[in-house]
Amino acid sequence: MKKNIFIVLILFIILIPFNANAETIAQKRQEIANLEKQYQEQQNKKNTARNNIKTDEQSIKNKENEINVNQQKLTAAEEESAQLTVDIANGKSELENLMSAYQIASGDNVYLEYIFAASSYEDLVYRYAIMEQLMSYMNEKIDSYKDKIKKNDELIQYISDRRIELNNQINSLNDEIDSLYDDISKYDKYANDIKSDIQDAKSFLNFMINMGCKETEELNACQARVNSTNNAGWVKPLVKGKITSYFGYRISPITGKSEGHSGTDIGGNSEGTNVYPVASGTVCKIIKKASCGGNQVYVCSYVNGKKYTACYMHLLTINTTLYATVYTNTVIGTVGGGSRTKSWETCSTGAHLHLGLGTGWYGSDYTTYTQWKSHLIDARTTIGLPKMGVWWYSRY
Ligand SMILES: [Zn+2]
Repeated sequence: MKKNIFIVLILFIILIPFNANAETIAQKRQEIANLEKQYQEQQNKKNTARNNIKTDEQSIKNKENEINVNQQKLTAAEEESAQLTVDIANGKSELENLMSAYQIASGDNVYLEYIFAASSYEDLVYRYAIMEQLMSYMNEKIDSYKDKIKKNDELIQYISDRRIELNNQINSLNDEIDSLYDDISKYDKYANDIKSDIQDAKSFLNFMINMGCKETEELNACQARVNSTNNAGWVKPLVKGKITSYFGYRISPITGKSEGHSGTDIGGNSEGTNVYPVASGTVCKIIKKASCGGNQVYVCSYVNGKKYTACYMHLLTINTTLYATVYTNTVIGTVGGGSRTKSWETCSTGAHLHLGLGTGWYGSDYTTYTQWKSHLIDARTTIGLPKMGVWWYSRY
C-alpha cells in the first residue's frame, strides 16, 4: 500500500512538472538518481527471488531422487521378506527331510518314536543328541529369518513415513516457488513503473536544460528568466509566400468534405525552400515521415510571456534535432509536400508549408497529439500574416 502511494506521489510530481518547480535542475537530477536506485533495488530483489527458485527446484529434485532411491530399497525389502517367508517354509520341510534321512520321520510323533526306538541307553543318548542338533540348527535359522523380516518391516514403515514427509516438503517448496514467481511479477511491474517515471523525468530535465535552465536555478525562476528574455514578437516562417488555406473548417482538398484544418497553409515556394521558426525557442518534438503530415518539427517558445508551440509540417528535410535551441534565423527544415515527398506523404496535394500553432508546450504541458490538437489556435491572426492570396516578401 505504501509503495502505491509512493508511485502516485512520484507520478504526481512528474505529471505536473511546472507546478512542482520550486525544485532545481540539480534536485531533479537527484530525483532521477533516486529512481534509478529504486529500479536497481527491484532488479536485485528479482535476481534474489530467481536464485531462491533455483535453490528450491534443486531441493525438490534431491527429494524426488531420495523418494526414488527409497522406493527401490522398499521393493528390495519386500522381495527379500517374501523370499525369507518362503525360506522359513522350506526350512521346515528341510528339517523333515533331514529327519527322514536319519530315518527319524515316519508319520506323527516321529521324534518320540525315533527316540523311544533306541536299542540301548547309548543309542538313546545318540538319537537324542541328533534330534537336539537338528532342532536347534533349524530354530536358529528360522529365528534369524524372522529377525530379518522384522527389520524389513521396520524399513518399509520408515520409507513409507519418509515418503509422506518428503512429499509434504516438496508441496511446500512448490508453494514457495509459486509465491516467488508472484513476487517477481510484482517487482517487474514496479520496476516498469519506475522506468517510465525515469524516462519522463529525464525528458523533462532535457527540456528544461535546453530551455537554458542552470543546475542550481529553481525551475520557476528559470521559466521567468526565459520568459523575460524571450521573443517580444513574431516573424514569418518563410521569406516569401501567400496563404492558400486558413485554419479551421474548410472543404478538404483530399476528401472533398468539410473538416477542421489544423493549421495555416502557405504556398508560393518550391520544395527545398528554407523554413525558419516564427519565434526562437527549443525543438520540443520531431516526427519523421508520418503518412499524413510527413516530416514535422515542433518548436516551443515564449512570446510576450506566453508559451506556444509552433508546428511545421510536410517538410522535405528536417535540419534540426530534438531539444536544439533554435533562433528566428535558424533553418529548421525545408518546404516539402510536393512530388519529392510523395513516397511517404498522402495528405498533401503540392509543395506548401503547413504552419500549426498551439498554446502551451508540446512535450511538457501535454504529451499526446490529441491534447496538442485541443490547444490549437489560428496562426495567421496570432502571428499577423496577410489574408489569403496576398503575397509577402519579407519575414518581418
Ligand atoms: Zn495544411
